[in-house]
Amino acid sequence: MLVDPKDFPILKQKINGKPLIYLDNAATTQKPRKVINAISNFYTKSNANIHRGIHSLSEKATTAFEESRAKVAAFINAASPKEIVFTKNTTESINLIAKTFGELNIKAGDEIIVSALEHHSNLLPWRMLAEKKKAVLRIIPLNSDFTLNMTEYAKLISDKTRLVAITGMSNVTGTLTPVKRITSLAHKAGAKVLIDGAQYAAHIPTDVQSIDCDFFVFSAHKMLGPTGVGVLYAKKEILETLPPFLYGGDMVKSVQQDRIILNDIPHKFEAGTPNIADVIAFGSAIDYLSEIGMDRIREHDLKLLKFAKEKFSKYKEVALLCPKDLQKSGGTLSFTVKGVHPHDIAEIFNQEGIAIRAGYHCAEPLIRGLKLNSAARMSFYIYNSLDNIKAAEKALKKVLKIFK
Ligand code: PLP
Repeated sequence: MLVDPKDFPILKQKINGKPLIYLDNAATTQKPRKVINAISNFYTKSNANIHRGIHSLSEKATTAFEESRAKVAAFINAASPKEIVFTKNTTESINLIAKTFGELNIKAGDEIIVSALEHHSNLLPWRMLAEKKKAVLRIIPLNSDFTLNMTEYAKLISDKTRLVAITGMSNVTGTLTPVKRITSLAHKAGAKVLIDGAQYAAHIPTDVQSIDCDFFVFSAHKMLGPTGVGVLYAKKEILETLPPFLYGGDMVKSVQQDRIILNDIPHKFEAGTPNIADVIAFGSAIDYLSEIGMDRIREHDLKLLKFAKEKFSKYKEVALLCPKDLQKSGGTLSFTVKGVHPHDIAEIFNQEGIAIRAGYHCAEPLIRGLKLNSAARMSFYIYNSLDNIKAAEKALKKVLKIFK
C-alpha cells in the first residue's frame, strides 16, 4: 500500500465482521482526512459566495476556489487555469461539449467517432446529438485482447469526421487507449478530440498539452475528491468560440435591455453558485495525489494488477477481461467465473468484507459486445495492498467451492 490507511477513516470499519477491503475505486474512491477536513474547514472558517462579494470572507472563498482551479490546471499541465471549467461531473462536462461544440459544429452527414469501450456518459450524448443532427456515429471495434483496433480507427477517420470522443482508460477492461496517436490522426483529418479521462486522470500522469487533445474531462470523486465536482479542460482558443451552456448569474458581465455581455472564460461556463466547498476540497485531493506522485501511483497500480492477474488466472473457470500486455492496462480487473452470475460473486466477496462491483458498469454495449450479460470488477487504488488481493483470491476460492 502506498499510503497510511489511517489517512482514510472509512477504511477502519468492518463489513460482515471482516475488515473492509474496498476494491470499487473505478466507481468512486474513498476520501483522505485532508479532503474531509477541507470541507469542514471551509464551512467552519470561510463560507461565503464567490466572485461577487467585497467582504473579506467572500474574497477568502474566491481565492481558495481559484487556487483549486490553478491546481487542477497544473495537475493536467493545461496551459492556463482559464482552460479549466468546473462542472458537476464527467457526464456534465461531456454534455456541455455536446450541447455547445456539438450543436455549433455537427451538421447532417458529419461523423462522430467513439469506441466500443465507452461508458454511457461518453456514448449517449453523441448518440443523441447524431440522431438530432442526422449525423453518423462510428464505433471503433476492439481487438481480441480488449485493445482498440487502431487499423479500423485509421479507416474510419475521414474528412467527414468532426469529433473523436474516446476514453483514455476503460472502466471495465482497464484498457489504456493510445490517446496521443488517436489525437494526432484525428487532427490530421481536421477533427477535434475529446478524451474521457474519468479513469485516466486518477491513474495515469496526465499532460493535456502533450496529448494535444482539444477537450479532456474527469471527475473529482474518482481521485480522492468529493462528489459533485467535475472538470472540463478545453483549449483556450476553442473555449472562447463556444456559446454558454447555462444562463444566469456569474456568466455575464452586463445585462442590458437589448443585449448581454458574456463573462470571460472559464466563468462564461459556470452559471450560478458552484459547488464551492467541494471544489476547494478537490484542491486538497490534488495536493495529496501530487505529494505521492502520479508516477508512483501508476507503478503501484501495475504491481497490484500484475499480482491479481497472476492469482486469478490460475483458475480455469475464471476469464479475465483485460489486455494481455500489463502496460496497456490501468488498475482495473474485470472477470467472470464460468457458471456463476457476477452478482453472486459480488455477494460472496461482500460476505468477506470485500467491495467489488458487478453488472454492466454503465457500458452495456461493451459488455453485450463481449457476449456477456454482466461482469465482476475489482478496481484498485493507493490504499489497496497485495494482501487485499490475497483476500480477494480467498473469496474467489469460496465462490468456486460454493458453485462447484
Ligand atoms: N467515463 C468513465 C470511463 C467512467 O468510468 C465514468 C464513471 O464511472 C464516467 C465517464 C462518468 O463519470 P461521472 O459519473 O462522475 O459523471
